[in-house]
Amino acid sequence: MNIVVFIKQVPDTTDIKWTENNTIDRNGLESILNPKDGVALETALRLKDRYGAKVTAVTMGPFQAEAVLRLALAMGADDAFLLTDRKFSGADTVATARVLAQLIKDKLGDTDLILCGQVAIDGETGQVGPSVAAQLNIPQLTYVDEILMFEDNKLTVKKETEQYIETISAELPVLICVNSELEPRLPKIDGYIKAQQYCCNTVNMEGLTIEQDKVGLKGSPTYVSKVFKPENKHQGETENFSADSAAAAWHLKEKIIDYMGLRK
Ligand code: FAD
Repeated sequence: MNIVVFIKQVPDTTDIKWTENNTIDRNGLESILNPKDGVALETALRLKDRYGAKVTAVTMGPFQAEAVLRLALAMGADDAFLLTDRKFSGADTVATARVLAQLIKDKLGDTDLILCGQVAIDGETGQVGPSVAAQLNIPQLTYVDEILMFEDNKLTVKKETEQYIETISAELPVLICVNSELEPRLPKIDGYIKAQQYCCNTVNMEGLTIEQDKVGLKGSPTYVSKVFKPENKHQGETENFSADSAAAAWHLKEKIIDYMGLRK
């Protein structure tokens, strides 16, 4: 099975500053692997452990984003691709997805499974994964909590919605947006050594068969008109309960029912 995992380097802070164009000012921000992408990687590596697979990590970003690819290689990914070019900068989710999808078409070929995080903690649109699936014309499964089984070229997954727990099967190739809370594995020493010796294939605009007006700011139909903090309309109330009391839990449930206007 050929698995591609999309991973993104994101700023590690809640103290975000904005540029005058209402994009995130990334200067001086420390960067980390997007948390759900660590989970997507762990999911891929568990499939590799169980069924055998080649796992390729891919990121689009500035040159420094190779740090997350080295981490992926140290954890156990077999190969890594860094998509980097000034012409890719200023991309919205559509242009980002176009470039990621084009890498698969031009360089990676037959891909059975694409895994990505459900959302990135900076942009937080959750659009990139589904948009890549649309570009490649393959099915997508979103909000996936667990991959249960791989059999007869089909993956069976569990996803939790607000009302149901669903079990769905899909034939490969498929794109999955991972939303579980799996703990990503820590790299071992030999993984770190491997990642020190080899990092990644670097691909720029020239390496892809894509027109310039389809990437970066030029290829982005979205613009950010305003950024604001939502107003806090309700003042919180503090209730003191004894920790082990079932009555306390019942009382809290009753308060929530009243608060939300759900009492019939
Ligand atoms: P989501 O859709 O929430 O991410 C879901 C998953 O998709 C991730 O978990 C990951 O698996 C995958 N994924 C997302 N992005 C990547 C990636 N880059 N590489 C690999 N996998 C990925 N951002 C900048 O950094 N610089 C800019 O100049 C810039 N300009 C922008 C201009 C506009 C008008 C807009 C609307 C956005 C801009 N952004 C810019 C933000 C950028 O579009 C998003 O960061 C990016 O498209 C991903 O969207 P998201 O963060 O909502 O990811």
